Amino acid sequence: MKHVSYWHDTATPFGAAQEGPVDGRYDVAVIGAGFTGLSAARKLAREGLRVAVLEARHVGAGGSGRNGGHLNNGVAHGYAEAKAHLGANRAHALYTAYDRSIDMIEDVIAEERIACGFRRSGKLKLASKPSHVAGLRANYELVHREVDSDTRWLERSDLAGEVGSEAFHGAMLYEKSAMMHMGRYVTGLATAVDRHGALIWEGAPVTDRDKRAGGWELATPKGRLQADRVIAATDAYSAEVPGAPLRYFRRRIVSVGSYIVATRPLSPEEVATTLPGNRTCVTSLNIGNYFRLSPDNRLIFGGRARFSAVSDQRSDAKSAEILRASLAHIFPHLAGVEIDYCWGGLVGMTKDRFPRAGEADGMIYGMGYSGHGAQMSTLVGQVLADMAMGRTDTNPLAGMDWPAIPAHSGRPWFLPLVGLWFGLKDRLS
Ligand SMILES: Cc1cc2nc3c(=O)[nH]c(=O)nc-3n(C[C@H](O)[C@H](O)[C@H](O)COP(=O)(O)OP(=O)(O)OC[C@H]3O[C@@H](n4cnc5c(N)ncnc54)[C@H](O)[C@@H]3O)c2cc1C
Repeated sequence: MKHVSYWHDTATPFGAAQEGPVDGRYDVAVIGAGFTGLSAARKLAREGLRVAVLEARHVGAGGSGRNGGHLNNGVAHGYAEAKAHLGANRAHALYTAYDRSIDMIEDVIAEERIACGFRRSGKLKLASKPSHVAGLRANYELVHREVDSDTRWLERSDLAGEVGSEAFHGAMLYEKSAMMHMGRYVTGLATAVDRHGALIWEGAPVTDRDKRAGGWELATPKGRLQADRVIAATDAYSAEVPGAPLRYFRRRIVSVGSYIVATRPLSPEEVATTLPGNRTCVTSLNIGNYFRLSPDNRLIFGGRARFSAVSDQRSDAKSAEILRASLAHIFPHLAGVEIDYCWGGLVGMTKDRFPRAGEADGMIYGMGYSGHGAQMSTLVGQVLADMAMGRTDTNPLAGMDWPAIPAHSGRPWFLPLVGLWFGLKDRLS
């Protein structure tokens, strides 16, 4: 079993990072080379600005190269909950922003000719318990009526042609949702950023920041640069670099481990008895699972296997065992299947699980996608680029309050308690 992301292992790594020291003066410096940072850098470079991207590890090292591969539309919450929390107008605007974010990815892929297997597969939200059906169906009816007519309700008897499992009791289908190869997209985006004239440094963690006349100086172990504006695009990884000038975000984001296994390639017969519908799938439990097929027909099966703030080889391997058990529960015919890949990553949660984008502490930022950011990060990146150029009317998250989480400064000591609480809720629901 390889302890590496399937997306990293099957994409050509970005090959045009700067080799020399970090230096120079730029209009905008971007911290973080995931979808958010690269999408912002691409737009700014296309507009002719001088742009530098500083990445602690390598392009796509964070969530962007480690996720489940789903581009799901719709807010992750029940729509009634989103309306109650945000108000009807903002909930509607946010829902449609997720739709737009997928359209935008399709446009970027076409403009930059990125071969990443983008496909409008549709997503199934699967009811894991009979008691979940009524809530899921009520959500479907509300969404269908108010914001997304490209949705359908599937009864348990309709699922046979979709998912080869007895574990589900009905599902909501979101037809606008898509899937793609995340590693090829993130590398393609970085290659486009380079082609449009921005500079990308890898292995260049930002460890300090000083105010300078008309801007900022950022320090990395590879050197320092000056920039008029700084974009923070570090999401769940905001606490990963000691000393990084990201304290504002560390106090507002809770980084939670999420884990994935990928099986060996399934035979055509196994595909037909496992996921004949070939869609992205998400289950309705709080500590649930998400899965899809890879381009070479592996089952890519993920979940919040453990409530841990760590993703390393040991932690990921423990999670693989938990995921294997969930996989066998949902697909008993795959109980003994070989697992070829196992990896994990950090998901950046906000307290209300809605993302944030704006300006604070001298930086423009977009983050907190709460596990639902592979699509939205491309749109938010473009919004951050607009802000850096003085345009503020494109931000669907403008003006959302974002208080610090009490007693939290980046290391979420309370995660095991949260895990117990959600586990209990799942057992009782
Ligand atoms: C296991 C897993 C499964 C997921 N599945 C899905 C899914 O199927 N669908 C979905 O919509 N979302 C999913 N997500 C969430 C999604 O991947 C993220 O929301 C999205 O990739 C965030 O992109 P980003 O560019 O904002 O952040 P990231 O891709 O995390 O990039 C942040 C970057 O900042 C860098 N960085 C941090 N600190 C510094 C510093 N001081 N200096 C320089 N660089 C720094 C990091 O190294 C990192 O590369 C998943 C996430 C995980 C971890």
